[in-house]
Amino acid sequence: MKSNKATVKVMTPKSGQPIAPLVKQILESLGEDACREGLSRTPERVERALQFLTSGYGKDVKEIVNGALFTVKYDEMVIMKDIEFFSMCEHHMLPFFGKVHIAYIPRERVIGLSKLPRIVDVFARRLQIQERMTQQIAQSIEELIDPVGVGVICEARHFCMMMRGVEKQHSGAVTSAMLGAFRKRKETRDEFLSLVRSKSASY
Ligand code: ZN
Repeated sequence: MKSNKATVKVMTPKSGQPIAPLVKQILESLGEDACREGLSRTPERVERALQFLTSGYGKDVKEIVNGALFTVKYDEMVIMKDIEFFSMCEHHMLPFFGKVHIAYIPRERVIGLSKLPRIVDVFARRLQIQERMTQQIAQSIEELIDPVGVGVICEARHFCMMMRGVEKQHSGAVTSAMLGAFRKRKETRDEFLSLVRSKSASY
């Protein structure tokens, strides 16, 4: 639960170098015939897939919520549970996926609810580690609306754990970021946790 602002920085922009020829090299390094029918167009497909899966680099949270910040007199907890996400771990470039739960207590403004999953995608569609993604989601909401507090919990399963040596197929990782009232007040945190747990989470 670090609260280091610097972690929200936009990451390195894409170099623009085509990915497909590099994927072809990988296929050849694996001993495959990159020209056989099933693989001949794979490099282009992988390039498009990678571009989509990392499209969060080019997105700006402020642009995404543009027009969907509303001034309201409401100071109870706003919570959105079970936001699905798919990301890729930066250590193995393998998927990790699961659910994000977001709660915040508004000070003056709220975010249109439909924007919360889109904020999650901005940070999920990058090479990530779960801890940083969780923190970035919380910090971006804090920066957008300066709430009394914001809490984010992320439950995920990692292919790099499920598929590789350790093969702990049922192990999930849970990370959280608590800012403002969610960090300072145990009652607020507990309310959030009990709302999150009020439906069985399957991750
Ligand atoms: Zn990994």
